[in-house]
Amino acid sequence: ASLKASPHYPEVVEKLRNVFRLKTFRKNQLAAIISTLNGRDAIVLMPTGGGKSLCYQLPAVCRGGKTSGVTIVVSPLRALMADQVEALRANRIDAMMLASLDSQDGDSMHELRTAANKPSLLYITPEKLCNSEFMKGTLKGLYSRHQLARFVIDEAHLINSWGRDFRSEGYAALHGLRTEYPGVPFVALTATATSEALQDIVTTLGLSDYVLLSQSFNRPNLRYTIIPKKRDVESNIVDFIQGNYPDQTGIIYCIARAKTEEVAMKLRMQGINARHFHAAMASDDKRRIQQQWQSGECKIIVATVAFGMGVDKANVRFVIHYDVPSSIDAYCQETGRAGRDGEVAECILYYSYCDTQRRMSQINKDKDIDEEQKNRKRQALYTVNAFCLNEIDCRRMLILNHFTEAFDPASCKGTCDNCASTGEVTELDLTGSATIFVEMIQELQNMCMKITGPLSVHAFRGTSASDMARRGFDAMKNYGKGSDISADLAKRLLDHLIARQILSTELEEAQVPNRAPISYVYLGSKADAFLSERQSFLLKVRSTK
Ligand code: ADP
Repeated sequence: ASLKASPHYPEVVEKLRNVFRLKTFRKNQLAAIISTLNGRDAIVLMPTGGGKSLCYQLPAVCRGGKTSGVTIVVSPLRALMADQVEALRANRIDAMMLASLDSQDGDSMHELRTAANKPSLLYITPEKLCNSEFMKGTLKGLYSRHQLARFVIDEAHLINSWGRDFRSEGYAALHGLRTEYPGVPFVALTATATSEALQDIVTTLGLSDYVLLSQSFNRPNLRYTIIPKKRDVESNIVDFIQGNYPDQTGIIYCIARAKTEEVAMKLRMQGINARHFHAAMASDDKRRIQQQWQSGECKIIVATVAFGMGVDKANVRFVIHYDVPSSIDAYCQETGRAGRDGEVAECILYYSYCDTQRRMSQINKDKDIDEEQKNRKRQALYTVNAFCLNEIDCRRMLILNHFTEAFDPASCKGTCDNCASTGEVTELDLTGSATIFVEMIQELQNMCMKITGPLSVHAFRGTSASDMARRGFDAMKNYGKGSDISADLAKRLLDHLIARQILSTELEEAQVPNRAPISYVYLGSKADAFLSERQSFLLKVRSTK
């Protein structure tokens, strides 16, 4: 009610209807618009598809705000900016973009300095905004003439240093804006913010008295399922698509570029018309595939995470993770592209610890990030790994808790695999077995011997005896002492010991050429505490799994 009493309200509604041709506001849109028109800083947390763009595009075309002139929109991706500018121009809104790192934008900037009619919106990459002297001059000019209406920081979670990558380096430089342009309000928008990321946004931008507009991140129409990854995932995917969503739209995410090509080909061989997409493709090919997908000509895309930022397609019926995602945040961004139309959509993840391991070694090898960032990425990976291994708790609750939102699992009503499962939950006390396993690895490590995961399970249970003898594992004090639990449970025990960082793994180059690297098991960072404090090891399992 108080929003409708605002003096800006009549103009805002007029623009909504006549410029954007929309009838009503969605949750928090009006509040965001009125706040920025009043000159206040605002942070808008909205799930993907929630309608973030309108929160700054509409005030950009209003004249009656406390600040007016050009709305500067900082955005990480050129393709995303280009789409937005095109859509705005189709609505007869004057929008412009400056994205290249070289001087190509010189003419546009000159125009920006001199033209009497400034664009309502200027889209710009953070690098360009903060590093180009010419751009700084242009901004200063606008500011001194009171033509700088507001700074909009899109995908603001990229300010958070651990989520940062090559695309978002420039976000760190945004911290200078507040002192350089006092009085110019900020609007920061994101679809993923943990309280930590939120804190980074507030301190980097220097916000003090801001309006926080958040809403539930729960996506009730998404169904979450995690499936242990076995051989021939492709056939499993084909069965899923043909059985549930023949001829519908979906995305399949893979870690590796080569994998996207391979999986797309295997799907085509089984009658599914899939295309691949990754960052190393020629830009013409990328554009073509994206257009074909947008138009519905091509329904299924097998892609790396390069595909999707800024993708706006309402009827995506499924998002499949062929491998473990890099974090819960990434998982939510990626699954968030499903079901934007509000209809039921499936999110399926194929879990294997090998993929977690592969990601871990990518982090370890990454030369572009420092040790602190590596640790945060490792921690995020452990969290998503544990999330995948959890076969008990409501997935929706785990996801929402990660974003510090409470959720009562009773409201899930079987829309995640764990809540849907009818298997009985029992809690096993595996303290004895876990201790034997860890002591066995310790013993090996003391003898400077190393063992792979599968072999460690054999050594633990005393199976595959000739192989064990050949490698000398049978000489260990704890050899075969874990024979009282099944092979399946022993494997799960190992997975959980790793997930709890009592054990760890490391990838090493194979001695034989052209062979995949081998993963060996070692003591983890929590092994000492586990053994010396005689901690107990409880594991909840489901009887049917
Ligand atoms: P986000 O950036 O939060 O992912 P967008 O701003 O791209 O979402 O909006 C998602 C879709 O919702 C777009 O197709 C947009 O036109 C539509 N939309 C946004 N606000 C409204 C509204 N008030 N009424 C109807 N449709 C809307």
